[in-house]
Amino acid sequence: MEDALICQSCGMPMMKKEDFGTNADNSQNEEYCTYCFQGGKFTWEGTMDEMIEKLTLMAGKMGLTEDEARKMATENLPKLKRWEK
Ligand SMILES: [Zn+2]
Repeated sequence: MEDALICQSCGMPMMKKEDFGTNADNSQNEEYCTYCFQGGKFTWEGTMDEMIEKLTLMAGKMGLTEDEARKMATENLPKLKRWEK
C-alpha cells in the first residue's frame, strides 16, 4: 500500500516540502497542496465540477488525454475531503 499524501482539493501527490500548502502562521499544511492552499486559505474557490474542468485542462502537461483526465478527476475528486458531502 502506498500512503503518499495527496492534496485533498485537487488530488495532486505531495512529495516534497514545497508541494504542501501553508497555514495562516506559515506552518506546513498537510492536507492541501501549495497550488490550492496558501496562508490558511484556498487560492481558488469553486465547485467540484469547476475543479474537474481545471484538472482536465491541465491534462496535456501530465501526459494524459482530456478524456483520461476527466475520467480520473471525476472518479477521484469525490473522495477528497474538500468535496465530501
Ligand atoms: Zn491541490
